[in-house]
Amino acid sequence: MTTQNEFSRCVAQYDPHALPVSAAQAIVREWAAPVAAVERVALRDALDRVLAADVMSPIDVPSHDNSAMDGYAFNHAALTNGAPAVELTIAGKAFAGHPFVGRVGAAQCVRVMTGASMPDGCDTVVPQEVVERGADPASITFSADAVGQGANCRLAGEDLARGHAALRAGRVIRASDLGLLASLGIGEVNVRRRLRVAFFSTGDELRSVGEPLDPGSVYDSNRYTLFAMLRRLNLDALDLGVIRDEPAALESALRSAAANADVVLTSGGVSVGEADFTRQLLQTFGDVAFWSLAMRPGRPLAFGRVWSGDRPGAGRPALFFGLPGNPVAVMVTFYQIVREVLLLMSGATPQPLPVIRAASRQPIAKRAGRTEFQRGIAGQDAKGDWHVTPTGSQGSGVLSSMSEANCFIALGHDEGEIAEGERVSIMLFDGLI
Ligand code: AMP
Ligand code: MG
Repeated sequence: MTTQNEFSRCVAQYDPHALPVSAAQAIVREWAAPVAAVERVALRDALDRVLAADVMSPIDVPSHDNSAMDGYAFNHAALTNGAPAVELTIAGKAFAGHPFVGRVGAAQCVRVMTGASMPDGCDTVVPQEVVERGADPASITFSADAVGQGANCRLAGEDLARGHAALRAGRVIRASDLGLLASLGIGEVNVRRRLRVAFFSTGDELRSVGEPLDPGSVYDSNRYTLFAMLRRLNLDALDLGVIRDEPAALESALRSAAANADVVLTSGGVSVGEADFTRQLLQTFGDVAFWSLAMRPGRPLAFGRVWSGDRPGAGRPALFFGLPGNPVAVMVTFYQIVREVLLLMSGATPQPLPVIRAASRQPIAKRAGRTEFQRGIAGQDAKGDWHVTPTGSQGSGVLSSMSEANCFIALGHDEGEIAEGERVSIMLFDGLI
């Protein structure tokens, strides 16, 4: 049983006004319990799903020794008489799916095509390019040192050995994995149930697409960004719309979100000033801490648990993230704080995101003591070295800076001013967004 304010206590040793990003990541990771339910799905439906158990290979792949080349199969041990050239009689043919039947003698070979089973008594394939017809048209000759023993032969089980794990639990299934499972003759796999994530936007100024934009209002973009980011992770995204800054509306939205989802994401309403009203409400039937991250953009963040009932512990719990309202801050907070938790809760074993070092083409203003995720345009020069230029405006509301960029420039907590030409870490959007 969770006691109230557990989430606030997690950060007791940090400055509440500047929680380091790495500390926030470590705390939220602690709360990522994977969904237990497992579903059995057909192979094609397993793409992007999370494998629930190791898949053991029921067979050897390939199932038989076979030729890797078009050529002639023979027994290498037969080449022991020291002669510089070899002459072998062609005893027959083998094609992929059409094996040679019979045993191959010492002075014999079999014409083989790529994928053909190695005939009995053969261990080596000489490629057709290096042989010549022998004196007898039914024979070939080649130099004795043309191939070593075992050359151009793929051994049974060299791709996957029977009884060994072909794929591990926690794997997010990719294109090669579907092919690999098919190569084992496996047509169905056990995957975790998709994580359900409910989300809504808060703010009296927000209008939905299709509504007129009256003075002082803005279109709600965060629900679209969140929808897209969740779908990219192949999660069940449950859109609960725009909720007014009004306690009753917010309460019923939060409770229905907790009733229907594993995780609840909201945007807006957690910055200083607004937080007082949300804070009070979230403590009524949740256990939520309000953090101020040492991060830019994306300083305010609420994190904890909410319940579908009328008090903490009543009804169904869901993990809760109250993201900032500014559109770029939503994306940065999602990728840096929320994404890994969603993957862990989906049962996946997240891999660290690749980081590239790139030379900054201009100086970057940066203060030590906070982590920054600026938006950049990265590329490679003719030698393959990476460079990056920050996009113009770095304001946390300027969503066009995300669309224009192709990477985050990740400036670490302790980094200060960046000089022109200095190397910085970048995270490419491809594969992430
Ligand atoms: P808040 O965190 O609620 O104070 O919002 C910070 C800023 O983000 C304000 O300018 C809001 O109008 C803006 N904002 C909040 N939610 C959204 C949204 N869903 N779509 C676009 N802008 C938003
Ligand atoms: Mg607001």
